[in-house]
Amino acid sequence: MAKDILTKKQQNIVMISSYTAKGDMENLEKALNKGLDEGLTVNEIKEILVQAYAYCGFPRSLNGLNAFKRVVESRDGDKLGEEGKVLPKDTDKFAYGDNVQFKLTGSHIKGGIYEFAPAIDQYLKEHLFADIFARGVLSYQEREVATIAFLSTINGIEPQLNSHINVGKHNGLTDEQVDEILKLTSSVYKGGDFGLGGENTANAKYFIGESYLNPLTKDGVASVNVTFEPGCRNNWHIHHKGGQILFVTEGRGYYQEWGKPARELKPGDVVNIPAEVKHWHGAAKDSWFSHIAISVPAEGASTEWLEEVSDIEYGKLK
Ligand code: MN
Repeated sequence: MAKDILTKKQQNIVMISSYTAKGDMENLEKALNKGLDEGLTVNEIKEILVQAYAYCGFPRSLNGLNAFKRVVESRDGDKLGEEGKVLPKDTDKFAYGDNVQFKLTGSHIKGGIYEFAPAIDQYLKEHLFADIFARGVLSYQEREVATIAFLSTINGIEPQLNSHINVGKHNGLTDEQVDEILKLTSSVYKGGDFGLGGENTANAKYFIGESYLNPLTKDGVASVNVTFEPGCRNNWHIHHKGGQILFVTEGRGYYQEWGKPARELKPGDVVNIPAEVKHWHGAAKDSWFSHIAISVPAEGASTEWLEEVSDIEYGKLK
């Protein structure tokens, strides 16, 4: 199983962190129950939800803690576990945090925005890397697993996500483990606002990997929300007579026309595929991906399915 790349504990940290960052209370409660069932302590989960505030803000953290309080009160016999430690009053927190940041990242971070706005450097070091990281309970690596999960669930913060992926690797995470974290966190959006629908059985033989179809309109102009699991893509194909329009709704994926470089796709992108153009579309290797597909109506329109997009070809995409 691919999922064995991460331990059960790591998987639970990822899902709790990701649903907290998304603010999906219903699935968060399920993830919290699962985490407790599979051996996380109450205090370990509290640490994840407290740390959340540094990366997704107090509202997400407080909502997560409220959900967890409800969950804990609805159950019996969960282990409290080790409690978080508080730094002694006379600690030089700036120096302590600077040292933790050095251990985490392998370098002393200064200059740039930290010189431009020294207050943020002070808060990061004295509070996040001193007060929070000194609490223990979770290892630095476990805290980075949570951070990568928070950041990869929120859009538009790729620089921070990439730097924390590097921090995670500096603390022993492998490339495969990072890819697995990204796959899991992209799954919290699978199907997105337009719904996952059912397994794509009708055209499964023209897809590599699992895909799902949620028909949105059937009369007049047909439209369907198509969801691809990470690594899933359709074969090269041609829409004859009528073309196809794609509206990207969730995740990260690709569109490629024969003889041209692949185009990376993200939510909000539109692809207007002319009739008779050989092409494929699908997910990135580490992300769930959804687009709404509209078939441009035309007399005698049909789709011709061709060869697979080979692993070698697909593997060249980042
Ligand atoms: Mn197509």
